[in-house]
Amino acid sequence: MSEALYRQAGLFLLLKELSELPGVSGSEKPVREHLARTLRGHVDEMDADALGNLIAVKRGDGTDVTRVAVMAHMDEVGLVVSGADEDGQLKFEMAGGINADILVAQRVSVGSENLRGVIGYKPIHLQSPQERDKHTNKDDLRVDIGAKDSDEALQKAPLGTPVSFVTKMKFAGLAPSTLPEDGRLPEKGRLMGKAFDDRLGCLALTALLRGPRLPFDLYGIFSVQEEVGLRGAPAAAWRVEPDIALILEGTVADDLPRKEDLSPTTRIGAGPAITVLDRHTITDPHLLRYFLAQAEAASIPLQLKQPGVGGTDAQAVQLVKGGVAVAILAVPTRYLHTPVSLFDIQDLINLLHLLQHAMPGLPTALANKHA
Ligand SMILES: [Zn+2]
Repeated sequence: MSEALYRQAGLFLLLKELSELPGVSGSEKPVREHLARTLRGHVDEMDADALGNLIAVKRGDGTDVTRVAVMAHMDEVGLVVSGADEDGQLKFEMAGGINADILVAQRVSVGSENLRGVIGYKPIHLQSPQERDKHTNKDDLRVDIGAKDSDEALQKAPLGTPVSFVTKMKFAGLAPSTLPEDGRLPEKGRLMGKAFDDRLGCLALTALLRGPRLPFDLYGIFSVQEEVGLRGAPAAAWRVEPDIALILEGTVADDLPRKEDLSPTTRIGAGPAITVLDRHTITDPHLLRYFLAQAEAASIPLQLKQPGVGGTDAQAVQLVKGGVAVAILAVPTRYLHTPVSLFDIQDLINLLHLLQHAMPGLPTALANKHA
């Protein structure tokens, strides 16, 4: 058995870099370029398509002709500049699902030069009693980059400029200086940061592509514009024509404060999650059984994501060409689609363990599909 995927040199630092890079939907270039640099020398072919999807191919050892795609989306939810007021404050549209309540008083990074700004909030002194109670409307918010007037604002941040949250990745419950010395993933701990949806998937896919060759050609697809409607992944899947597509995600954990102990979608610290079905996808039952059996055989915790919420690139990819068998594996993450989310490193490590165990034999999962 080769070295554990999670022990790869530099994996922790790579996660920190991926989490902190801006990559709002439609503006994934910083993430794409960083991933391409990281993968160079580890894959046999790599290029970006017209939409910006990064497609990396790691050739197999020639024993299996099954075409396997593993996918993760590069983009994160954020804002896009849509205009400016006379006093220099920037109007914006949302890119992806964000509740405006979480935008107030946030620090943001604007455009490719990472200009700093703030989404201002009316001081409580100036709020009427009614205002104090009501939900925030995005149209009442602006991004303030300190510009004096609309000309200066739009010169610094033209229409279409992406705006992302600014969050440094840190351990929860530890002082900020605690960083692993060798850049490897620590064995335990909980990390706080932005864009874990889906830079965790990007990290796991990178580890896989940097790992040992598999019996089949592995197509690594880092997709764009997932958060605004699953736009990149199907285009890449049309090109790759996979038989199997495995989607890696940072998914919703709702083990949050609540009155009743309802069954949560997922819990952090209970292992990676496999989707049985969500609103738009039914995981291929052969793939589902295969991953559950592999996890059990290797004593890797694997939770079933409770049905109900969300959608992923799987729903678009499953419909490509003659249809694709899909499965979704994810790291449960609290506070998704906000400036700070939180996950348990053990869940990421267990996802990497599961991939390491399950990937070499993945095509056998479908061997009897049509028998
Ligand atoms: Zn996602």
